[in-house]
Amino acid sequence: IMAAAATRLISRLTLVTGGGSGIGQAVCQRFASEGASVVVADISQESANETLGRLQGDLRGQSHMAAVVDVSLSFVAAVDVVLSLQTRYFQPPSVCVNAAGITQDDFLLNMEEEQFDRVIQVNLKGSFLVTQAVAQALVACGAPKGSMVTVGSIVGKVGNIGQVNYAASKAGVEGLTRTAAKELSRFGIRCNCVLPGFISTPMTDKVPEKVLNKMKSLVPMGRMGQPAEVADVCAFLASDDSRYITGASVEVTGGLFIG
Ligand code: NAP
Repeated sequence: IMAAAATRLISRLTLVTGGGSGIGQAVCQRFASEGASVVVADISQESANETLGRLQGDLRGQSHMAAVVDVSLSFVAAVDVVLSLQTRYFQPPSVCVNAAGITQDDFLLNMEEEQFDRVIQVNLKGSFLVTQAVAQALVACGAPKGSMVTVGSIVGKVGNIGQVNYAASKAGVEGLTRTAAKELSRFGIRCNCVLPGFISTPMTDKVPEKVLNKMKSLVPMGRMGQPAEVADVCAFLASDDSRYITGASVEVTGGLFIG
């Protein structure tokens, strides 16, 4: 006998950046299966549409869409996205997951200034712009509640060779999220961060086999994670099941780097 699927997000409008691939795509799928309307936002139209095509949409009142968004662009661009959602759905998203992110690895001794800036621009500033635009819209319309989820990384806590820019951006995302949680609690908006470890996605497909094997040997659970395993935690944080949790960082790492 199969347990009934959880439908904790019925009639919630959700915005997922980086929804075209990997973890963001899995979040979109999980949210749709829980009854949410999903806005798949990605820099690539093609991948956003591909995710859109995979979404379940047979639950009450569901209506999904794809949106081309470069999260790193500007405050105005982020506000535009939220405004266009308000025009179409007559409400701002009450759940927002910031999964858009990039890597541009190099050793500290070799890293170019542009590589550092670009990764901060997308991962950290992009999370700020989108979180701010959604929070402003929620507060302005007097929405009773909201849940913001950012995607950090375990690397932001412990560092990783070749990722001085990425680790800095992800540590920044955690600090941003904790601060947003403190400021936005009074408006009923919760803000939490998930910290994935090594998850099998197009991002980690770029890592050489030798390095991946070394990484796997460091994971107490002995394997890489799946995007759906991160998406499950995002669905929990988006839903009222986590109603007393804010400012938290949740590691989804198979035990990597404990202690
Ligand atoms: P992914 O498969 O590369 O997905 C990231 C998505 O974000 C891609 O669709 C990408 O589009 C999009 N994107 C890139 N720049 C963007 C921008 N400026 N505006 C909007 N969208 C943009 O990577 P992933 O592994 O799923 O990563 C998702 C998040 O999890 C990232 O924040 C990443 O840092 C974080 N994370 C991943 C792991 C892991 O092991 N995979 C571990 C810890 C944290 P394009 O493909 O067209 O560039």
